[in-house]
Amino acid sequence: MPKPNPRHPNFPVPGGPELRAKGWRQEALLRLLENVLSVGEDPDNLVVYAALGKAARNWPSHRAIVRALIEMDEDQTLVIQSGKPVGLLKTHAKAPLVIMANCNIVGQWAKAEVFYELQRKGLICWGGLTAGAWQYIGSQGVIQGTYEIFMRIAERRFGGDLSGRFVLTAGLGGMGGAQPLAGRMAGAAILCVDIDLERAKKRQQVGYLQEIAPDLDTALAMIDAAVKEKRALSVGLVGNAAEIYPEIARRGIVPDVVTDQTSAHDLVYGYVPKGMSLDQVRSLREDGRGQLMAASRASIVEHVKAMLDFQKKGAEVFDNGNLIRTQAREGGVADAFDIPIFTEAYLRPLFARAIGPFRWMALSGDESDVALIDDLLLEMFPENRIITNWIRLARQHIPFEGLPARIAWLGHGERTALARRVNQLVASGELKGPIAFSRDHLDAGAMAHPNIMTERMKDGSDAIADWPLLDAMLLCSSMADLVVVHSGGGGYAGYMTSCGVTVVADGTKAADERLDHALTNDTSLGVIRYADAGYEESFEEIAAKGIGYVKV
Ligand code: NAD
Repeated sequence: MPKPNPRHPNFPVPGGPELRAKGWRQEALLRLLENVLSVGEDPDNLVVYAALGKAARNWPSHRAIVRALIEMDEDQTLVIQSGKPVGLLKTHAKAPLVIMANCNIVGQWAKAEVFYELQRKGLICWGGLTAGAWQYIGSQGVIQGTYEIFMRIAERRFGGDLSGRFVLTAGLGGMGGAQPLAGRMAGAAILCVDIDLERAKKRQQVGYLQEIAPDLDTALAMIDAAVKEKRALSVGLVGNAAEIYPEIARRGIVPDVVTDQTSAHDLVYGYVPKGMSLDQVRSLREDGRGQLMAASRASIVEHVKAMLDFQKKGAEVFDNGNLIRTQAREGGVADAFDIPIFTEAYLRPLFARAIGPFRWMALSGDESDVALIDDLLLEMFPENRIITNWIRLARQHIPFEGLPARIAWLGHGERTALARRVNQLVASGELKGPIAFSRDHLDAGAMAHPNIMTERMKDGSDAIADWPLLDAMLLCSSMADLVVVHSGGGGYAGYMTSCGVTVVADGTKAADERLDHALTNDTSLGVIRYADAGYEESFEEIAAKGIGYVKV
């Protein structure tokens, strides 16, 4: 039975035991497509997050995808090109049900202007990472990543947690909206600036943001009080980060940690330049693109200069994956890359072991299914502090959005073991319905992004996109249910290539085989990618777990 969705009444949350498709595998992918829209930012326009990250190219394409998923047999594969279905072909029951390629533009042409033009002609759409691949699970999808970053900073600089520390950030959108809760979970007093009151209210409604301050003075006073009392607190402030950050610096206040998650990757549909209202920006999006791009870049220059200023005064400053440094450097800020990227600064040792953002969605729509898997995780991995700490915190703090889902940073072997055990629980009826397993594209073998995931790799292999392409081919050979290759990133083209995967645990023997092969090979390639680049942790993992690395 679908559940009403007060935020987007036309996009109910799927669930229940009835199938519309011919089998659970097809039904699962249909529910995941419905789910990304139910938790999306602007589902009427098929936008899931990050300004233009879409679930399908347009409504006719969406309807055709839904029809195909309902009508297709298990031995067919639906082929999707940038959000538009183009073929329903006979393959075999072990082949993926859906393969996709989204927003891949040939190198020399991979530029924002070309993307915008192709999009205007209706020839392409951008799938973000998890939007076009129907894997987005609301703000929870990035929250553990953000939390782990905060905790690494806390361990290195502040004695283990962020209590009594001031974190400054901006952006309360589909992904950035995870920041206030992640900050609070790490113990911080966190101030989140967003230009759009509606975004702040939305985060407050779903329980991710506690307070919205009426002005900067009040916001700073609230933060100051929380810092003094070592009380965790999240405060939203409506304003432009390009004005608020320099103003905080001008007052001589230095936050302990500074980052940003405005949609700075997009100078037209994402970032809002200072001095402009949201309505002004909207009216310029079609006819004044050049003017808007120039104004956004000029604001980002000031925004990043303030971040550099905080860094010079001792704050821990990092880029949280929105390409703000890249935009600033293109605007003339030569030292923008003095700000480190979060992956290299905090998470690389985890990725080198293929520990990354694994996730699962309860297709029954029943929250008790996620609770049961939480218990299972604690029982299966009692020694793993990252997992046990996270599951306890997540249970306490994270409200469900859309289909009940959970993210947990699991590594090689752990993902497969969990998924196969869950498949048994689906078969025995202890879980109310099948579970879909997936992961973020920001995963060890799955992404080449020289300004985010693979910046300053040990061997200089930052820009080599062979790895995600190999991953996608490997996952097709390993019987995954959905495999996707995305490109895009900042400026929508040319910045990154990534691979996504979904495998459905429907309780069958065939699912057990699919989960075993796909999840094991996915993380094997992840460890191999980092071993190939010379990371010691990967060699340890290969030796400990017997991964089939070919050393030349
Ligand atoms: P979004 O478009 O849903 O939200 C962006 C928010 O920024 C909006 O609420 C908007 O009002 C606000 N904003 C824009 N310009 C502003 C300004 N000048 N001052 C204050 N607020 C401003 O985007 P999202 O999905 O939250 O993603 C944000 C960014 O993070 C994107 O660039 C995305 O690519 C990146 N991202 C990083 C990771 C990661 O792994 N670290 C993951 C996902 C997304």
